[in-house]
Amino acid sequence: MKSWLEYLNILGFNYLYFFEKKKKDDKIERLEALEKIVKNCKLCPLHLKRKQAVFADGNPNSPLMFIGEAPGGDEDLKGIPFVGKAGQLLNKMIAKMNLKREDVYITNIVKCRPENNRDPLPEEINTCSPYLVEQIEIIKPKVIVTLGRFSGGFLTGMQGIKNYRGHWFSYKGIPLMPTFHPSYLLHNPKERWLVWDDMKEVLKKLGLPLPK
Ligand code: SF4
Repeated sequence: MKSWLEYLNILGFNYLYFFEKKKKDDKIERLEALEKIVKNCKLCPLHLKRKQAVFADGNPNSPLMFIGEAPGGDEDLKGIPFVGKAGQLLNKMIAKMNLKREDVYITNIVKCRPENNRDPLPEEINTCSPYLVEQIEIIKPKVIVTLGRFSGGFLTGMQGIKNYRGHWFSYKGIPLMPTFHPSYLLHNPKERWLVWDDMKEVLKKLGLPLPK
């Protein structure tokens, strides 16, 4: 292998760039393959009433991954996570962090809409969560933010989001910050500052400047 790399170097290739690019291409290929599987998945009854499975949105090379609960009506229609009212609030939060939605990666723990936006059932989470586990493995974010009790409970193993929100956890070595779901904040606007405190911790962990 070494002589091949040296040969590439002699020819003028920057092989570090070459391998970084290859790694990125592999990542995209693996995500595309996984998305195809998710889009055709019929492993749980949620596939019966969905318009489409909702895989993810944003930048797969982002250091920051947001994980919500499940698609709602708008997401089911558009095939993109967090595009309804809760999504607009998430966008505002991301903008307040001086980031753009295209800078982060966004997904849910359950990929198909539970009817009437009910909570996902434990068996639905169990059946669907291996897709999320694989997504995290492919993306390899530097920081995970869980939004709400379902993704937070699953990835931290904790119960009672009010007890564990705002504390750092580790998921397979990746720092994880659990916070409230934006739809909870729509009904409890006074708690927005708590989420903002959590996001400031996230910015610090990423080594990004805190907005003034
Ligand atoms: S919710 Fe998940 S496991 Fe169930 S059908 Fe959709 S993709 Fe498959």
